[in-house]
Amino acid sequence: MILRLVIGMIVIYLLFKLIRKGFPAVGGKPRPAKIQTPDAGEELVEDPQCHAYVPVSQAVRAEIDGKKVYFCSRKCLEQYQKVG
Ligand SMILES: [Zn+2]
Repeated sequence: MILRLVIGMIVIYLLFKLIRKGFPAVGGKPRPAKIQTPDAGEELVEDPQCHAYVPVSQAVRAEIDGKKVYFCSRKCLEQYQKVG
């Protein structure tokens, strides 16, 4: 009888711990937001049209006046070429 009570209490305690873990705002310090960093070795290039930083592997490459230019999308590349 007492053993069952103890087991029941342990289960409730574990459940309580789990719930608190799932909701860090309820108790304890809020966790700092995870900062997303690009993969190691991934170079960031600036889009001269919208000034967004894009990883080289995802950037749209173009050669304008013999210069390599990177864009976040084809749309930016086209707009950049239109403007000059
Ligand atoms: Zn862009």
